[in-house]
Amino acid sequence: MIESTLLLIKPNAVKNKNIGEIISIIEKDGFLIKNIRYFRFTEDLINIFYKDHIGKSFFDNLNKFMLSDVTIALHLERDKAIERLRQINGDTDPETRETGTIRSLFADTITANAVHSSDSPQNAKRELEIIFGYR
Ligand code: ADP
Ligand code: MG
Repeated sequence: MIESTLLLIKPNAVKNKNIGEIISIIEKDGFLIKNIRYFRFTEDLINIFYKDHIGKSFFDNLNKFMLSDVTIALHLERDKAIERLRQINGDTDPETRETGTIRSLFADTITANAVHSSDSPQNAKRELEIIFGYR
C-alpha cells in the first residue's frame, strides 16, 4: 500500500553537508519526494513535535541539538513507506544499529543521529500536518 511518511534531515547532517547523500539514498530506494521544507525548529515547535519525549532524561539535549541549526523536512511516498524508512534510517541505539543504514553512515552521537522518521501511520499524519501545515 502506498503510504506517506516524514523524513527530517537533522542539524548535524545539514552542518556535515550530508543532505545530498541522504536524499540520494532515499530516492534510489524508490521514495518519491512530495514536498520539501528548509526551516529552523523553535522551542514551541519542539514541544509540539516531540511532545511524547518531554520530561525524559535526554529531552534537554535533544532540544538543544534540534535548535542548533536548520532542519530539512521531506514528505515522502512509497509502498510501505513508514516501515521501510525506519529500516533504512537504522536504530536509535548505536549498539543495535545495522551497518549500511543512514544513521550508521551519518550519525555523530546518539542524539545527533542525522535523521528522523515517523513511527506509525497516526504519527506520520500528525507530523506531516505539524511540519507542512496540512489539514
Ligand atoms: P527515533 O528517532 O529513533 O524514533 P525516539 O523517538 O525514541 O527515537 O527519540 C527521539 C530522538 O531523541 C532520537 O532520534 C534521538 O535524537 C534522541 N534520543 C532518543 N533516545 C536517546 C537517548 N537514550 N539518549 C540521547 N538521545 C536520545
Ligand atoms: Mg521517534
